[in-house]
Amino acid sequence: MDKHLVLLSFFLSYVLLSLNSCNQQQVRQENPYNFPTQVKVAGDLADRMQLTERRLAGHPFSLRLVTEDIARREDYQRRFEEYEGDVSGRTLGAWSYLSRLTEQRTAKLDSLAEQILSYQTPEGYFGVNQQPEGWDYWGRQIFGHGRLLVGLVEYYRLSHDDRFLQAAKKLGDYLAAGIPGWTTAHQGNPWDENRDPTDFRSQFIKTHYTSVMEGLVLLYEISGEEKYLEAARTVVPLLPEFGVYHSHSYMNTLVGIAKLYLYTGVERDRNLLTDIYWQDIKAQVDQPDGGTCEYFPVNRRTEGCSVTDWLRLNLHMWAVTGEGRYMDEAENIWWNALNFHQTHNGAFGHSVMNARGYEAPYSESWWCCTMHGMFAHAALLKFSAAGAAKHLWVNLYAPLESKVTAAGVPVEIRMHTDYPAEGNISITVFPEHQTEFVLRLRVPEWAQSTYQVQVNGDEIEPEMTRGYAVVRRVWKPGDQVSLRLPIELRVEDGRGNTLSDDERFYDVFTSATIHRGPMLLASDLHYNDALPDTLYLTPEAAVDARPEVQSDHFRYPENHVQLPAWINGRRASVTLVPMAEQTGYGEWADELPTFRRNGEEPIQRVPVRIKFTVKRVGDSIRLPARIAHPGGIPMGRIERP
Ligand SMILES: [Zn+2]
Repeated sequence: MDKHLVLLSFFLSYVLLSLNSCNQQQVRQENPYNFPTQVKVAGDLADRMQLTERRLAGHPFSLRLVTEDIARREDYQRRFEEYEGDVSGRTLGAWSYLSRLTEQRTAKLDSLAEQILSYQTPEGYFGVNQQPEGWDYWGRQIFGHGRLLVGLVEYYRLSHDDRFLQAAKKLGDYLAAGIPGWTTAHQGNPWDENRDPTDFRSQFIKTHYTSVMEGLVLLYEISGEEKYLEAARTVVPLLPEFGVYHSHSYMNTLVGIAKLYLYTGVERDRNLLTDIYWQDIKAQVDQPDGGTCEYFPVNRRTEGCSVTDWLRLNLHMWAVTGEGRYMDEAENIWWNALNFHQTHNGAFGHSVMNARGYEAPYSESWWCCTMHGMFAHAALLKFSAAGAAKHLWVNLYAPLESKVTAAGVPVEIRMHTDYPAEGNISITVFPEHQTEFVLRLRVPEWAQSTYQVQVNGDEIEPEMTRGYAVVRRVWKPGDQVSLRLPIELRVEDGRGNTLSDDERFYDVFTSATIHRGPMLLASDLHYNDALPDTLYLTPEAAVDARPEVQSDHFRYPENHVQLPAWINGRRASVTLVPMAEQTGYGEWADELPTFRRNGEEPIQRVPVRIKFTVKRVGDSIRLPARIAHPGGIPMGRIERP
């Protein structure tokens, strides 16, 4: 080659590289949010967190069981150990995350962390190298390692022990180095166009790979090394079109893309998320309780991991868009599907949906859901409030105290409430010194025409934008805000639209759901002899019926409702209770038979019905005014990257 040509090509490469890196710098930004560094919570959520922590701290979850997926002992086997780092990484991650926010840390967690560290190989991976065993088994390892990377990052954040940062980077380097080879290195990779498109397994394992995304972005957060963000960016185009997928790993990848977006601001990624959220998931798998199926797009089985990731996806969609409606959905999932999936031994697992609710069999998924449910609890604490350059968002309502930075000033938030038993929420803010910021209080869609706000005892009429009541002022320590969200009986059409006194509500509605505040009400066989098909909205409908309550644990008597109904050819009175009460039922042995290598033992709960035919008698029940659906969500289908 001519010497000048060589020089020219060097020069051009240099220009192109520089342009490329400039371009990348332009799309890198500061994460706009400050999330609470510490949250003390009381009430129902605290009880539920403690329940799951006790489960993980207890005997069945021995370190031997938990670490088997990286120890790969020859004299011991357990189910799913080839998902290397899955159980061990999730346990480490969820527990560390929660421990950091609540400032409570157990010795078992530290022992687990030390043991995990001892199983890292010089190449960076943990356990046995499964790459030579083919795409399926390597995919299982990659999936587990994605969870383990999150675990190492979260434990580093808790402990500030540099060994865990180094271990996370070594694992991150191993994963990042593998990504280019996923699509090019070998024939027959999951993205190979020559592969049989109906080969379910090869479709399925694509998202085993792409779910490393979240860990890579978290690793960028703690290391500041942009190569991890770059590696995550190369994964985005590998997310397959929505279709038949394990919903947990599909949504886990979406959460990773949302986290990535907060640092890159790439519009295309935001559109991809919005598109999949509305056009695919919401359109095809929308359950009134916020539940979702184990396999997209349609499957009767549910799992705690999918419910948790649907919750986390909604929380992250809020972060991406600032739209309160995603928080409304997160609150719905929290109080209904998530709580329903928690059993009274603290576990999370699988249930079975039918057209009108849930069936009786339930099983604990000790190999994923129990610890993944703890991520849901931690995420609820994290997203309960958020600060930014000029704003302080208050997103979720529970008795809690948190510390967050807003407008550059540390602010302590103290919240007192019995919500959702009743709708009064008292929030006192303590900015370190008097400072101006915009307080944004989330007002659920069902309360947007009836809510009230007071500041230091004076009623105000705040502007409502994107699901938030907005109060701009100079705040001083001890300023008090009272938010009132009237908790009333509400009938919805099963897809989240409130049925109101207008043309949308006729005398009979065949697939309706009954709510009080964020609680979805269900009929079950604990309070009723049979499940009703038809409910009557009549003047006799009694809210706050407060029937005899056997236990005060996970009971919400303020939200019990009695309605006349038609059951098996006769009129009867039916008691509806929040579906979250199911946590209190079921017999659970300490020593679970599910600890066999294979198989799971169904536990009988009772069938739960959540969709009813509703007949309206006269003008008997005052229904809330119809709320116009606010616009602003781009619905157009975009090209996939
Ligand atoms: Zn699971």
